[in-house]
Amino acid sequence: MRILSNCHTHTTHCDGKTPAEDTVLAALGKGFRSLGFTSHAPQHFDLPYAVRPDREGDYIREIRALADKYRSRITIRCGIERDLFSCADVYPYDYFIASVHYLPCGAEMPAVDGSPECLAEAVRGFYGGSGLRAVRAYYSLLAAYARAWRPPVIGHFDLIKKNNAALGLFDENDPAYMEAVFEALKAIREAGSLLEVNTGGMARNVVSEPYPSAAVLRMWRGMGGGVTVSSDCHDARFLDYAFDQVPDILSGAGFDRVFVLGTGKTLWEEVPLDAPAAPSSGAEQSY
Ligand SMILES: [Zn+2]
Ligand SMILES: [Zn+2]
Repeated sequence: MRILSNCHTHTTHCDGKTPAEDTVLAALGKGFRSLGFTSHAPQHFDLPYAVRPDREGDYIREIRALADKYRSRITIRCGIERDLFSCADVYPYDYFIASVHYLPCGAEMPAVDGSPECLAEAVRGFYGGSGLRAVRAYYSLLAAYARAWRPPVIGHFDLIKKNNAALGLFDENDPAYMEAVFEALKAIREAGSLLEVNTGGMARNVVSEPYPSAAVLRMWRGMGGGVTVSSDCHDARFLDYAFDQVPDILSGAGFDRVFVLGTGKTLWEEVPLDAPAAPSSGAEQSY
C-alpha cells in the first residue's frame, strides 16, 4: 500500500517551517487523500515552539478555511498535538495527539528530545543518575495522561530514546525497560488510543527507525493495539518521509492493517497493509 495521509503536521503556526496552505499543496502533489494539522498546543513555558495562546483562534480559522477551500480534492482535519503540560482544551479540534515532551525534575523541566546535556544534568540531579528511574517516570506520565484523557492518538511513544544513543541512559533490551513500556502500553490500550508510527526523527536524522521501536510495536500488536502513521512533519518537503518503509516495518511486527485519517464521515479509516492503492479502499471504522 501507499500511505496517502499524514495525521501529525506542524506549520508556521508553531515551530514548523512551512505555511499551512503550502503544506496542503505539497500533500496534493503527493496524491494525499487526507491531511491532519496538529500544531503544538499553547502552553505557559517553552513558548517559541507552541501556538501562542492569543493566536490559537487564528490557527483554527485558517485550517477550517483551507478544509473548505480544498474540500473537493482532500480531506483536511484540524487537530492539535497537546503536550501533557499544555494549558489547552481539546474540544475545538477534530482530534488530538497526546505527547509527553518534558520530564519534570524538581524545578527543572528538560525536554526529553531537547539538549542531551540538559537532560543528563537533570537525570543526575533528580534521579540519582539512574536513566531507568527517569524512563520509568516518563512512561508513568504517559500512562497517567492516557488514563485521564483517553487520547485518540499517542505521539512518538518512546521519544525518550532520542537522546539515549548520546547519553546511554538505559538499555532498550533490559527487561526492566520493557516492563515500564508494557505498563504504559496497557494504560494506552485501555484508553482505546492509537499509537502513531512516527518517522519525524528519521526525517531529522536523529534516529534510524520510527518511534516506537520494533520491539514496542511487536508488544503493542500482541495486545491488539491499532496504529496510524505520521511524519511529525515540520517541513513539507518531508511530509511522507520514509512512508515507503513503514508497511514492511508494520508487517514485520505482525500488523496487517493501519488506520489513516478518513475521507468520509468517520475520523479514521482502517486500511489493509496489502491494499493496492488509496485509503478510501478500506472500510470506514470508528476507533
Ligand atoms: Zn511531539
Ligand atoms: Zn509533533
